[in-house]
Amino acid sequence: MISKPNEHVIILGGGVAGLATGLELIRRGRRVTVIEKGERVGGLARTLVYGDFRFDIGGHRFHSHKPEIIAWIKELMGADLLRVPRISHIYLQNKFVDYPLRFPNALSIFSPPQAARILASYGAAALRRRLNGRKKDVSFEDWVVHRFGRAMFDVFFGPYTEKVWGISCQELSADWAAQRISLPSLTEAVKRAIAPGAEPPSTIISHFWYPRAGFGMIPDRMSEEIERLGGRVLTSASVAALEPRSDGGWRVHVQERDGVQRLTGDRVISSIPLHYLLAALPPESGAADIARRFSLSYRDMVLLFLALKIPRVSEDSWTYFPQTELLCGRTHEPRNWSAEMAPEGRTSLAAEVFTSRGEATWEMSDEQLVARAVREFEEIGFLPPHSLMDAWVLRVPYAYPVYYIGYAEKVRRVREFLDAAFPDLHLVGRTGSFRYMNSDGVIEDALALTDYLTGTRHEYVDVSKDYKVD
Ligand SMILES: Cc1cc2nc3c(=O)[nH]c(=O)nc-3n(C[C@H](O)[C@H](O)[C@H](O)COP(=O)(O)OP(=O)(O)OC[C@H]3O[C@@H](n4cnc5c(N)ncnc54)[C@H](O)[C@@H]3O)c2cc1C
Repeated sequence: MISKPNEHVIILGGGVAGLATGLELIRRGRRVTVIEKGERVGGLARTLVYGDFRFDIGGHRFHSHKPEIIAWIKELMGADLLRVPRISHIYLQNKFVDYPLRFPNALSIFSPPQAARILASYGAAALRRRLNGRKKDVSFEDWVVHRFGRAMFDVFFGPYTEKVWGISCQELSADWAAQRISLPSLTEAVKRAIAPGAEPPSTIISHFWYPRAGFGMIPDRMSEEIERLGGRVLTSASVAALEPRSDGGWRVHVQERDGVQRLTGDRVISSIPLHYLLAALPPESGAADIARRFSLSYRDMVLLFLALKIPRVSEDSWTYFPQTELLCGRTHEPRNWSAEMAPEGRTSLAAEVFTSRGEATWEMSDEQLVARAVREFEEIGFLPPHSLMDAWVLRVPYAYPVYYIGYAEKVRRVREFLDAAFPDLHLVGRTGSFRYMNSDGVIEDALALTDYLTGTRHEYVDVSKDYKVD
């Protein structure tokens, strides 16, 4: 099970997970080949360049609660990391208010009867929790209603979450809320409101790290380091089939532009979508059957990159639009993260449309998507008229693993099958192991896997269990 020094490890996928794992393994004396389908490395964390403008796929900030992960990234990036203030607003009740919601600022945007209803329903939920004890929440809706009350769910959590995921909050697992929602309770908020000067909750971070020329500098640097240390990173190279060799190890069939290359390796680590991996394994191993029985869904998205003739839209890192009638769910303004992201005197917006392949918004033409987004932003006063200079559209499949109720059991069954059938095949990262983690969690996972494989730790620690995105 444990990897031998100098063994050849083939890594499927050149996103943050594949590259961080490759880099740590090569630093610890293994030979590494990374196979990436895209023309460039980085996956969801890459930065795209259009003319003088640079865009991430949805604005990636770096943050971790673990000092060792911050130290790891600082060591990699050196002086290229900037410290950026986090300022976000949400468009609610025709106003832009602080996000995450802060009280009483947040309550003040509602009419007095609405505010009273929110407080009363919060009070009733708190009382019910006290009387009934801690029941296990199954769905996202249960989780929120038990903590915040029905009125807050109806006004905010319900519509936004259904817009992001495209499914009802009763189908979405409570795991997602537990990992993601770091709102202070109303009681804490009210306490803070009447005790000015109280510290903000530690869960709301005020600054984050960001590479000066876009988040994609991080995977690019990892890839350069792997090559500098003698490893290989193949791009425009897609894994077509994985063949276990009878004498141990693997033969990996890689589709490149000019034909199929066969690589031999001692161990395979996968960070590609799970069903691609299962489809690449020999069907007689049972992989095809497992893929059919325990299929998992990923949410896709469309990114609209808008170059603007104006110097600034807002001071925000992110701006949220929960309304289902508005096309975009969230924007970020890259210039507010680093001045290198847009030319002098100009700014830009990256606007996220949450959708999936086959949905109406996925099928709309690029021109229709841009025209509708810009019209809506102008109508609500977010963009001044005639500020658009140019636009590009990017469709991004496999953007988010969807935590449908029951997903955890499916993931467990898939892993159980892979562990039993292929002990020298491992999963890593967000896309590859179907775990909702940001890049810091993905790097932590890569370190946990390499620690285990190189014998630094006796067992593999699933970092996603305690992972919190905030
Ligand atoms: C909109 C959005 C906003 C985000 N914001 C943040 C943020 O602010 N901060 C943060 O830290 N994280 C953020 N994240 C999360 C972050 O992008 C991920 O945690 C991280 O990039 C996942 O890396 P990964 O390597 O696990 O997966 P991926 O990036 O999906 O990498 C998988 C790679 O496998 C490749 N691949 C697929 N199929 C094949 C094949 N057959 N053969 C070879 N290669 C293949 C893909 O091309 C891809 O490069 C955000 C994500 C999204 C979608």
